[in-house]
Amino acid sequence: MQSKLKKVIQPPEFLGILGGGQLGRFFTMAAQKMGYSVVVFDPDKQSPAGKIAEKHICKPYNDLKALDELKASCSAVTTEFENVPAETLKYLEKDIIVRPSSKAIAIAQNRIKEKDFLIKIKQAPARMQKHNGGDPVEIPPPPESEWGSAMPVGTYVVIDSVESINNIDKELRIFPGILKIAEFGYDGKGQIHVNNKTELEAAFKTFKSVPCTLELKLNLDSEFSIVLARSVDGEFIEYPPIQNIHNSGILEFSSVPNASYDFLDKLYVNLTKRIANELSYIGVMAVEWFIADGHFFVNEIAPRPHNSGHFSIDACVYDQFDQQVLALTGNKLKQPEVEFPRSVMLNILGDLWFRDGTQKEPKFEMIAGLGINLHLYGKAEPRIGRKMGHITILGLRDETQEDVMKRALSIREILWKN
Ligand code: ADP
Ligand code: MG
Repeated sequence: MQSKLKKVIQPPEFLGILGGGQLGRFFTMAAQKMGYSVVVFDPDKQSPAGKIAEKHICKPYNDLKALDELKASCSAVTTEFENVPAETLKYLEKDIIVRPSSKAIAIAQNRIKEKDFLIKIKQAPARMQKHNGGDPVEIPPPPESEWGSAMPVGTYVVIDSVESINNIDKELRIFPGILKIAEFGYDGKGQIHVNNKTELEAAFKTFKSVPCTLELKLNLDSEFSIVLARSVDGEFIEYPPIQNIHNSGILEFSSVPNASYDFLDKLYVNLTKRIANELSYIGVMAVEWFIADGHFFVNEIAPRPHNSGHFSIDACVYDQFDQQVLALTGNKLKQPEVEFPRSVMLNILGDLWFRDGTQKEPKFEMIAGLGINLHLYGKAEPRIGRKMGHITILGLRDETQEDVMKRALSIREILWKN
């Protein structure tokens, strides 16, 4: 294995991806563009990536024989989503390259482990000096065990039993809160808002008493994400910060207001890099951030390309999926080269197909125009809440970000009214 880890994987070798949704499909397209072949592992026969890959292993993630077949088909594998069992990744890791590692995925796929990992990232205190009448003398830093946490995480408690509910300290002021299942939640699923211990107990029962986190509901001013990639050599590239607007817990708009970074942007990028370094991460990673009451907090880590990073497909020379392929294959990453510094992405959910009660195709032909790029994921069945595609609206020469957002809003209106 050790010698394999150093090697750059060359096309036309096969690359593996666990999960065949839209993220897997974009990965497959990026890999194929570079001359690689792709084997998709996804239990769904209709999976969007499975349809276009050279090979599709259509078996459950815990099917060891099928995983052996995957191992025999490729020398390196990545994942498109964090809900692949960490055991599956560990099993693959014994014989082939898995990037990001099972260890990194195991942390990012479990909200309890993730928060625990984040608060343990320590920061050295600012250097202090004291004056003894004469020249200032530097005070030696305290031992590392006394350093503060470097990552701002919102107030939370672990809920894994009725006892843990009874034990919540009033002083914590955790209500109103959001109870989130620790594993397998996505797009706002597996979350219940609760105002007191009685509601919390009921919500915990609704989740069949699986381990959860209870988070203080923050008064959000805004949400944004940092998408970056880290190579085998520990080198980084990052995309400009992306502002995210959610609707019912699902991302609706992602807006990239400019490609230049101010002081705060640099801070967020550096903290996100710190997280990736602590995970010895190889691949594309996103961190979702909250700004609430003037403070910023880490929300969660996505150990993969991120929905909010889709603007990069149209706005950059090298998109987040190109970086995923480059990192997986042990290549050097490429600077994204943002060609369109202003853009807005609009997610297209299955809801649009049911806009007047019965199922009918959206009239995408009505929104065609300069700088408007429609991506459909080739999903057979539209369903409420299901991501079917997205539209990137690129800011043209003299447009401000407000102009681009206005166009995005009117595109949404046209699609919904026709
Ligand atoms: P998912 O895995 O579904 O993306 P998140 O934890 O990111 O789960 O929650 C989805 C959305 O719900 C967030 O983007 C945010 O809009 C809202 N949300 C989540 N946690 C909080 C919180 N503690 N306070 C306020 N809003 C929250
Ligand atoms: Mg999220």
